[in-house]
Amino acid sequence: MNIDQTKSWQDQIIAGAQKKGELGALCYVVEMRLPKYLEKKVGQRRMIAQHPIGYIPRVCLAPDPEEAYRTASIMQRLMVMQHRDWLTGKPSSIEFKIMLALIEDIQTEYHYEWWAEWAGGYPENTIDRICSHCGQVTQVGRDRGWTCGCGVQYDVEGLALPGY
Ligand SMILES: [Zn+2]
Repeated sequence: MNIDQTKSWQDQIIAGAQKKGELGALCYVVEMRLPKYLEKKVGQRRMIAQHPIGYIPRVCLAPDPEEAYRTASIMQRLMVMQHRDWLTGKPSSIEFKIMLALIEDIQTEYHYEWWAEWAGGYPENTIDRICSHCGQVTQVGRDRGWTCGCGVQYDVEGLALPGY
């Protein structure tokens, strides 16, 4: 959604989704708008904020969109605080906006429900790893090696360790 979203525009979309019973498809994320000098470096002006790097925090609208907006506002304010210039206390030149998005449009598997999942620590995102020896599927934390149920050990890259 590459437009400036006003709150009233967002509310209209939400009301429409509620009518159609499609609230579950929507989430709030924080959009970063970069200043010119960063835009040149990064190659784009808008991007979805990550926290921590590599993970996109989102707040699902279902079941209560108003509660979701309050939660998203806290998330957004924390990002503003975190990015301010600590020497001068001035706000960052990056703008942070609450953005409505389709959950399916978030183009990474590393997104998580902010607060609900984050409060317990950093998100433990897992991926399915398939053992090339026996074909078993094991859920493994990102950036981890693992040991298959058959005993074969793998490194982070998914390569069997020597001896297997
Ligand atoms: Zn195996």
